[in-house]
Amino acid sequence: MALDPKKHEMPAQDPQVRAHNFDEVALGYTEEIALAEAQRCLNCKNKPCVEGCPVNVNIPDFIMKAKEGDWEGAYQIINATSTLPAVCGRVCPQETQCEAKCTMGIKFEPVGIGRLERFVADWHNANAKEKAVAPASNGHKVAVVGSGPSGLTCAGDLAKKGYKVSVFEALHTAGGVLVYGIPEFRLPKAIVAREVEGLKDLGVDIETNVIIGKTLTVDELFDMGFEAVFIGSGAGLPMFMNIPGESLKGVFSANEYLTRSNLMKAFRDEPRTPIMKGGKVAVVGGGNVAMDAARTALRLGAEKVYIVYRRSMEELPARAEEVEHAIEEGIDFRLLNNPVEILGYNNPDDPRDPKNGFVRGMRCIKMELGEPDASGRRRPVPIPGSEFELDVDAVIMALGTSPNPLIKNTTEGLEVNRKGGIIVDEAGLTSREAVFAGGDAVTGAATVISAMGAGKLAAASIDKMLSGK
Ligand SMILES: Cc1cc2nc3c(=O)[nH]c(=O)nc-3n(C[C@H](O)[C@H](O)[C@H](O)COP(=O)(O)OP(=O)(O)OC[C@H]3O[C@@H](n4cnc5c(N)ncnc54)[C@H](O)[C@@H]3O)c2cc1C
Repeated sequence: MALDPKKHEMPAQDPQVRAHNFDEVALGYTEEIALAEAQRCLNCKNKPCVEGCPVNVNIPDFIMKAKEGDWEGAYQIINATSTLPAVCGRVCPQETQCEAKCTMGIKFEPVGIGRLERFVADWHNANAKEKAVAPASNGHKVAVVGSGPSGLTCAGDLAKKGYKVSVFEALHTAGGVLVYGIPEFRLPKAIVAREVEGLKDLGVDIETNVIIGKTLTVDELFDMGFEAVFIGSGAGLPMFMNIPGESLKGVFSANEYLTRSNLMKAFRDEPRTPIMKGGKVAVVGGGNVAMDAARTALRLGAEKVYIVYRRSMEELPARAEEVEHAIEEGIDFRLLNNPVEILGYNNPDDPRDPKNGFVRGMRCIKMELGEPDASGRRRPVPIPGSEFELDVDAVIMALGTSPNPLIKNTTEGLEVNRKGGIIVDEAGLTSREAVFAGGDAVTGAATVISAMGAGKLAAASIDKMLSGK
């Protein structure tokens, strides 16, 4: 049978419809499409795709099971190495990881590994009846700080080995960026909740509303009898441009904006938090976070949403698929533009004018690309005299984030690098005895799968330390 040179398309909601709802954009393969896509895998000898996966999922073996229609068998193979397959199948940048290494990709389009993973995980979630059972306790207690993918993975791997694990989470819901950052239309929250429930079935205790560094310190965790601590507190501290007008009402960090929408359900008629809906919105930045914020603003009812980015389409760091989706939905890309000032209302005739202090526009300057900079990308250079005003009512800054210094400042002897990332050795051990760390708290903003890989590594190191093996 001739191999199909193209990856099977994944059905998706119509762009005009989905731009006005928070339902998932991509609808997933049907069983028939999944079977056809699985047939495209060559099951090649070298298995380069496995190497491309930061947690080394045995991709060819799961696809061989999928070829036979043994979806549960396929799931069990993925689950042996990945604790969050339904999440990874949706948000992993497969095009730069497993699929980038796929042998089919040399001549044709690579196998749709992520799409197959998503189908297999969804099949399992819809059909599996048995709950995970907590194994017999080995008597050791471990504390995990943060319930993002790194913390959840570390907790899951240790719980499977009989450790009593307690996860301490600052927010009121577990999941980290998976619940507060990535919007519902890319990753339904019910999927994350299910993964968290699975950990609870394994005996993991999840304590929300506990800020390590305020409610309790790392040292107090040891006083409470925990023998090791894993810090997976992410990189939630937003960056700003330091331009005039950033303290006006209507300027948000992308993290705040997305948290209000995703976690606090600001899109509902009776929300738990206010958010600006409607009007014209500018999102500054060009990464996945910028795309998520722009597409969220559109769904919240904005009449116009701009992406303002200082380089060109070629340098845009967001995933190609997310950019395509944003364009289809009508986001207006203002490339080679950079903000220089956010402009506010100030009615001199009426100091009580309710619009005073709110954003009324953004002054930008046009840019051109010069020589490559340290990042290897061409440096954007302002074009003198090219300033112009963009008429907007809200500005969302999506310029990147760094680790919050709270834990470092309250934990003696915990060393961090210049960018605030916790320094760890190859086993994930920090400069403090029995304190491990991983994920964005170490690397700065990265990916779900790399955070999971770090959680896995730390779990193995903690097991080695406490079991004495
Ligand atoms: C909007 C957005 C979209 C993204 N899209 C993608 C994508 O499509 N694909 C992808 O691979 N990656 C994506 N990422 C990046 C990815 O989500 C992160 O790299 C990943 O979540 C990092 O996992 P983590 O466990 O290190 O930290 P996080 O997910 O940040 O979780 C850290 C947790 O620790 C908690 N915490 C922090 N401080 C404390 C404290 N002192 N005490 C207790 N708890 C604390 C936080 O509340 C949080 O719940 C995106 C990120 C954002 C912001």
